[in-house]
Amino acid sequence: MSDICGKKYEEYIKMVTDFHGTAAPGLLIGGYMVDLAYKQLPKDGFYDVVCESVKCLPDAVQILTPCSIGNGWLKIEKIGRFAMTFFNKYNGDGIRLYLDTDKLKEYPEIHEWFFRTKPKHDQDSDALMRSIREAGSRIVSVQKVKVNIRQEKKKNTTNAICSVCGESYPFKEGSDKCKVCSGEIRYYITEDQKDEHEA
Ligand SMILES: [Zn+2]
Repeated sequence: MSDICGKKYEEYIKMVTDFHGTAAPGLLIGGYMVDLAYKQLPKDGFYDVVCESVKCLPDAVQILTPCSIGNGWLKIEKIGRFAMTFFNKYNGDGIRLYLDTDKLKEYPEIHEWFFRTKPKHDQDSDALMRSIREAGSRIVSVQKVKVNIRQEKKKNTTNAICSVCGESYPFKEGSDKCKVCSGEIRYYITEDQKDEHEA
């Protein structure tokens, strides 16, 4: 099968392993999706991307395009579908690429992996990778879409100092605490809090 965005298969696998930790099958399919997107889109355009799954796909986009979570050109909609959309950020015109499960019938290893019909340790991962490489973008379908571009008004937020932790946070009327100190978001406890808990 052909290259992935001008990179040889082995080269892409190396990039994926460096970035993602392992050469995950989902990233390989994601790579063929990005490759197909660039083949279908006008060469001179700039595109934003939406991934419909948190898993794998965002990393394929971040490896192969200038779009990243950090620069805001890549967004994730937590839908859980194996799909991504490339679109023009000014008019919303774009294409959506998705894993077409009808087309998986010809690729039993990929079907098995995708639908988890076999326990992972019974799957032949070499055969799976070979099958994905052979399939390339033949298991992907494309549709034309228009993305709803939210006219996000640039809110000029200012930072304030939280009255509890003393760190800066985006100021919101009516609150003098950051989201952690106000209890809105709790994703960690500190050592001190752990001690209190155990005492
Ligand atoms: Zn705080």
